[in-house]
Amino acid sequence: MVSNLSKILNDVNTFVVPKTCFGCNAVLYRGEHLLCAFCRNELPLTEYNFSAENAADRLFYGHSGVRKAAALFFYHQNGMVTQLIHGLKYRGMEQIGSFFGKWYGALLSRDTGLGAIDYVLPVPLHRKKERKRGYNQCTRFGLELARALGGEFSATLLVRERSSRTQTVKNRWHRWKGTRGAFIAQSPEDLEGKRILLVDDVITTGATLGACCEALDHIPHGGIYIAAMAMVP
Ligand SMILES: [Zn+2]
Repeated sequence: MVSNLSKILNDVNTFVVPKTCFGCNAVLYRGEHLLCAFCRNELPLTEYNFSAENAADRLFYGHSGVRKAAALFFYHQNGMVTQLIHGLKYRGMEQIGSFFGKWYGALLSRDTGLGAIDYVLPVPLHRKKERKRGYNQCTRFGLELARALGGEFSATLLVRERSSRTQTVKNRWHRWKGTRGAFIAQSPEDLEGKRILLVDDVITTGATLGACCEALDHIPHGGIYIAAMAMVP
């Protein structure tokens, strides 16, 4: 009875204020969130998994602690994934992180190459930046992955000590130098022997995630895994 009533209210609400697709503005059906079925099908899945080697792994060859990396989508300039991540980072659309996290969580929970994860850690933002944005864009993504994989999400075990300057025009070496030392592991004893999943929005050169891995290097952890919303092909 209550659920029937809420369905009716939801339909009335949809009729009064129809929810529309982020991609094409079509009215969404009940059960659709953020994107219509057509737009969902258009998203460029990488189909990377945690069993076979992929292009994301190759970015982390220099980091002995990294066991495996993957990303959900390819990040193409002006593509829908790019627009979604822009909405997530700059338009206050924090729910887009949950959308990606639920999708990836469903895939990763069936990925036999990944196995159990103890901690899910988001790439931290500098305090000031997080305060300005109001949230870390990787938090909801990480929470959904932790829920799907049975691990614990923590936004406090890895912190950002200083902000790196804007990175767009620097080359890879300088970017790497710019982010190096920016991250610090807090209560490292909590991570001893643990399998860690680091999560980020977009993997470009891998420099930021690499710097996070370095901050975890001195801990005898049980291996670092990396999962991102998207990756530049
Ligand atoms: Zn659509």
